[in-house]
Amino acid sequence: MKIEKTSFNKYVEENVFRTINEYNLINQNEKIMIGVSGGKDSILTLHMLHNYRLKNDMDFEIKAVCIDEGIEGYREEGIKTAKENCKKLDIPLTVYSFKEEWGYPLDDIHDVYKSTCMPCGVYRRYLLNKISDKENCDKIATGHNMDDEIQSFLMTFARNDQNKFPKFTPILDKIHENMTPRIKPLWKLPEKDVGIWCVINDIPIHDEECPYSVTSLRSEVKMFLNDIEEKKKGTKESIFRSFEKTFTIKQEKVRLNTCELCGQPTAKSPCKACEITKEIKSIIIH
Ligand code: SF4
Ligand SMILES: [Zn+2]
Repeated sequence: MKIEKTSFNKYVEENVFRTINEYNLINQNEKIMIGVSGGKDSILTLHMLHNYRLKNDMDFEIKAVCIDEGIEGYREEGIKTAKENCKKLDIPLTVYSFKEEWGYPLDDIHDVYKSTCMPCGVYRRYLLNKISDKENCDKIATGHNMDDEIQSFLMTFARNDQNKFPKFTPILDKIHENMTPRIKPLWKLPEKDVGIWCVINDIPIHDEECPYSVTSLRSEVKMFLNDIEEKKKGTKESIFRSFEKTFTIKQEKVRLNTCELCGQPTAKSPCKACEITKEIKSIIIH
């Protein structure tokens, strides 16, 4: 199937800009931090926010942050692509690492838990919030696309974790003084369109799979969904519509506490990052 570049770019931009406008994701004079991994989703988010600012003649600051988890032979390439794209768009980029923050790279602790993605995700979210809070950013933009959201939605059922329902929204409220609200401009964009956009525009991206992704429930759910979609087209869209109707439930009831050890926002103290750091250090030291 031949895709016409101009009309496809128009469709992608309209899709993303509509989400930004409909949910009021960005306002004039805000400071927006983008978590950039070098993968297709974060790179598209970077370009879209840059285009949105330009085409709407808006004045808001964009800064990019890349988290180096410490995955040898994998993350270096992502950082390189993130730098390349940021340079092209003239967006400042800073790299922070798990090693600087906790004293060990992910490679050193990859087998402490059943899934490496658990400590990795906890640490990455923690660090992004801490940096954005320190730098007085108004929002953190992430590259979550429609498929990511559908996977997360199904994972809450698989884990009997329905209190995550309020997270299914393109913008999370500021519910703690040290919490930076997250925005997801690609919320309504299917993953395959993110990939097509990068290819037809010749955008440098890091498209390798993380060597630890096989340990995650997400990769199982992703395969399951792609399989059903292949057999019955439109299934993903239907699931997305279902949760779109339910995501607002209980949002106002969510309250966050403060971690007694690090001061970061958390559902229960100590926060998950402090809890796993304590566990990991006891294993590493012994
Ligand atoms: S796949 Fe898992 S371990 Fe790899 S970067 Fe993502 S969350 Fe981290
Ligand atoms: Zn903590």
